[in-house]
Amino acid sequence: MLRRRVFHAALQQLFTGTQETERALPCGLLCALRGGRSLDLHRHKSSLLDVRERTLIAVKPDGVQRRLIGQIIQRFEQRGFKLVGLKMLQATQDVLSEHYCHLRTKPFYGNLLHYMTSGPLVVMVWEGHNVVQTSRTMVGNTNPAEALAGTVRGDFSIHVSRNVVHASDSVEGAQKEIQLWFQTKDLLDWDLWDQTSTDDV
Ligand code: UDP
Ligand code: MG
Repeated sequence: MLRRRVFHAALQQLFTGTQETERALPCGLLCALRGGRSLDLHRHKSSLLDVRERTLIAVKPDGVQRRLIGQIIQRFEQRGFKLVGLKMLQATQDVLSEHYCHLRTKPFYGNLLHYMTSGPLVVMVWEGHNVVQTSRTMVGNTNPAEALAGTVRGDFSIHVSRNVVHASDSVEGAQKEIQLWFQTKDLLDWDLWDQTSTDDV
């Protein structure tokens, strides 16, 4: 417990530098922090702050029908991301027309809506450092014919009209999509044990 309190005080000192936290820290640790502060502040700060980035991932109806839900979830868990929301549902035309509003004028739009309403979806919110960009890489090119082996689409699909999975394409897009598919109360804030101190065990 003591080590944990010192660790939290050290972090607080690093970012705020209040007198109160200075008093709570052992002198040696404080000096070490001050010494490295100018060099390391940006790196520490950014890596601590952006672990909360979130993205929307969906297993599309073809992925559900082909029993790929587990394998897709496994890839995101294995990579180190944290699942904070998950539900299975039959999507409505209304939600899908909002979700794909940028594609309304495309010739494949009608077929896309038909495909996406042909069976249940599993929609998820995953959280972690750089999760939007990393999950796009993990999912692979929109057209599975061009998706690399090792990506979800590269391993499980062959045609753009049945590409198994959705992943948000930007941080702003992810925020909009998460709000569209989830209510705030359905997203859980929880701690991964490997991202917190194990001193209490
Ligand atoms: N799509 C399609 N034909 C195309 C392009 C896209 O059927 O020529 C579908 C495909 O299911 C794709 C979705 O429309 O995943 C959304 O397209 P987008 O360009 O947003 O690709 P994504 O972000 O899914 O990679
Ligand atoms: Mg897209």
